[in-house]
Amino acid sequence: MGRRARKRKRDLGGCTVSGHPEGTGADAGTAVATREAATCRAAALIQSGALAKALPMLEALCTEDPADNTAHGLYAEAIRLAHGRQAHPASDSCGCGSGRAYRVCCLAGERQALRRFEDREPYYRLRSQAFRYLAGARFDQARSMAISAWFGEEGVGAAGGVPSEFPLEWALCTVDLSWTEEGEGYPLATFAADPSVPTTLARRAGQWFQHGRYGLWQCPTVQADPGVWLTDHLTGFRRYVSVPPEHLQPLAPWSVLGCQLLVVDGIWRTAGVILPMSPKEGAAMDRMIREVAQAYCEESEGAQVCGDSGKRPATAVPPDPGSRDGEWDALAAHLVGSGLPLMAATLREANSQPVRLRNTDGEPLLLVKAHIEVDDPRGLMGLLAGHPDFVEVDDDAFVWQGREMTRVQAEPLLAQARAWAAERGEELAEQIGPRRVTQAELCLEGTVLVAQVNSEARLERLVTTLAGLGADPRVMSTERTDPAEVLTQSATTGGSRGSGSTLGGDAGPTAAGGRPGLVPEAVRAWEQAWVDQPVPRLGGLTPRAAARRPDVRQDLEVLLREMEHGAARRSRLGVASIDLAALRQELDMPAMSA
Ligand SMILES: [Zn+2]
Repeated sequence: MGRRARKRKRDLGGCTVSGHPEGTGADAGTAVATREAATCRAAALIQSGALAKALPMLEALCTEDPADNTAHGLYAEAIRLAHGRQAHPASDSCGCGSGRAYRVCCLAGERQALRRFEDREPYYRLRSQAFRYLAGARFDQARSMAISAWFGEEGVGAAGGVPSEFPLEWALCTVDLSWTEEGEGYPLATFAADPSVPTTLARRAGQWFQHGRYGLWQCPTVQADPGVWLTDHLTGFRRYVSVPPEHLQPLAPWSVLGCQLLVVDGIWRTAGVILPMSPKEGAAMDRMIREVAQAYCEESEGAQVCGDSGKRPATAVPPDPGSRDGEWDALAAHLVGSGLPLMAATLREANSQPVRLRNTDGEPLLLVKAHIEVDDPRGLMGLLAGHPDFVEVDDDAFVWQGREMTRVQAEPLLAQARAWAAERGEELAEQIGPRRVTQAELCLEGTVLVAQVNSEARLERLVTTLAGLGADPRVMSTERTDPAEVLTQSATTGGSRGSGSTLGGDAGPTAAGGRPGLVPEAVRAWEQAWVDQPVPRLGGLTPRAAARRPDVRQDLEVLLREMEHGAARRSRLGVASIDLAALRQELDMPAMSA
């Protein structure tokens, strides 16, 4: 068997297309054998292109056992293929090989499967029934615990922008009441086990509780096809997930979603509570969870951790972050779940404090546009034209260049600035080419001098300089824009489709690192320079050198992902941004497909 064929065989979960599953022969093995036979049959159908037949079979298999990775993988493959086919002309002959037109053959069946994949109604119906159940008096304590976890002492409304259903949904799976007098466990488990709940609802609730999984889900793309592969930062667990447009649309590639994934009728979905984070924030939350896990295990030393719900870890085996064992998986998911309100608060905090940007003098970056009256404007223009620090760029328009730095002075400053920018995956605040720093742009409008500077201090220095030239400058008006604030505001997202809203935006360093009008040529120059500049995050290696070193390549990949994330967000704001595809090509670091 060739290499390709072997790989193919593994992809199909060990089935060969024509082969027969090996039953155990025992009665207990019959169900397993039946599942294996059905899985192999579905795999064969996918290979022959009969997706409309394969999809319902796979949905049934995934509904029966949401933990079956093979069935899930095949379902993901089939639904992606069906999605791809929607672009083909309906009059073409069908991909299943029937010889009939796609329109009269498999089209309808495939569309129905795609609609089921996107349809969140079964989940919303289940959730609203569970909410109604949770409203009962026996869950008073669960509700108040959840409200205080999300909103603190101040109660509902204290945390602006958090819909009140967030704590309720969270309470269903994360508030354990087994230690209370009522003796109830998790509300969702109680709901699933209640004989008064209709069978279908109870089964769906049971699967939500048993398989629903909190994590820090890395989202490599915002292009759904029609779902997205999400990978948990902490455990490496992966699922192909139906993410609704209102969750996906505000994100940039490599966002990390702090949330629960749940499965309804075999299809994985994001729950209503979504905390979108930048890659850096996601990595910070990952570190936080690992630290808590470590402390947690040292303290409990093999003691019972969370009772015997079966879902939570029964014993606190010190987790080995990075290993793929079940204990660590369960502990990580549990800690993310219980830590979600804290994460939300942390991100809100970061959101409310706009990042301070600095210009190359280290002063707070503030775009100031000042209207300055001067004596004898025409005379001043003449003086400026002859002044060594002012360069005439147009009629009555000048650039004020600051002190000329020597190479020795400039290099450490520039290296620092580059490192600062690279760490954030951003451009420098100013063009780094010439060693003279642009301090202001001046333009005479009528008799008034309009000056644009990027800090208060520079405006002061400009006024002093003009006074030194005898112009007697009077600042008549100023307009101030804090670029960080503008960006933070624009980046704060949140759509809401009833219950499916997102929380906050993507907090943290969102700086454009430059003026909104940053010239594209400067960005291109930065790109060309960056690949050959030492970067502290890469242990002082240049990106080009790091790309050739297997031990550092992964660090470079992480950095590129952060840059991709930042670039996608900036280009959405209309700010000139780095061309990551070109950078990746230059470095021979192709984007990995999900
Ligand atoms: Zn067909």
